[in-house]
Amino acid sequence: MNPLLATVPRALRDLGGLFLPRRCGGCDQGLRHFEHCLCSLCEADLPRTRFHDDPRNRVEELFRGKVQLEAASAFLHFSPTGMVQRMLHRIKYHHDRQPGLELGRRMADDIRTSERFGTVDMLLPVPLHPRKEHARGYNQSQVLVDGMLERWPVENAGKGLVRVVRTPSQTRRNRLDRWLNVKEAFHLPDPEKLRGRHVLIVDDVVTTGATLEGCVKALGAVPDIRVSVYTAACA
Ligand SMILES: [Zn+2]
Repeated sequence: MNPLLATVPRALRDLGGLFLPRRCGGCDQGLRHFEHCLCSLCEADLPRTRFHDDPRNRVEELFRGKVQLEAASAFLHFSPTGMVQRMLHRIKYHHDRQPGLELGRRMADDIRTSERFGTVDMLLPVPLHPRKEHARGYNQSQVLVDGMLERWPVENAGKGLVRVVRTPSQTRRNRLDRWLNVKEAFHLPDPEKLRGRHVLIVDDVVTTGATLEGCVKALGAVPDIRVSVYTAACA
């Protein structure tokens, strides 16, 4: 979206979208009438990981020996062409929920028939700090979850996990420091709501896995919970 448009109220923007050329979330070329969020070329080039059925996939290995997970996966690899970076950047910084919803739909389509994720009955977005969420207008992980829920009849855990303090800059900290730091940043307002469920934690990107690890640790306080992890992309 044109950054100037971000300052226009949403209702007006939606109306404007009727007249403005729609652009591809991957390459920013104009979309043809039958294309939806991605052009046909980007659609065909989506760098899918196809990790879901492999218990030794790279994302799952990040957490092995650190936290107990049922399964972990990512939908896309970061591609050398930068397509995935552009899609995620647009969701995060351009006040544009549509590519996020579309990405979420594709994430759900990719995983919901996988045997290892088949018992998931609740989706939980990684929480943003409230101040950040207020500034952005939304939590990009919740947008992904909203898109996923359009295709997958499971429950939305919404703010089942919240962030209580801003995480200071995590650069120049070692992994343990980062972990301790992040762990303190999560709070469960209503653990009973999650009791006995198979909760899928959803985030946009996994790199070191430190934030997700913090979420999984926090959820460990819930009795009989099973936890899995799924991200839009892995670095
Ligand atoms: Zn494209």
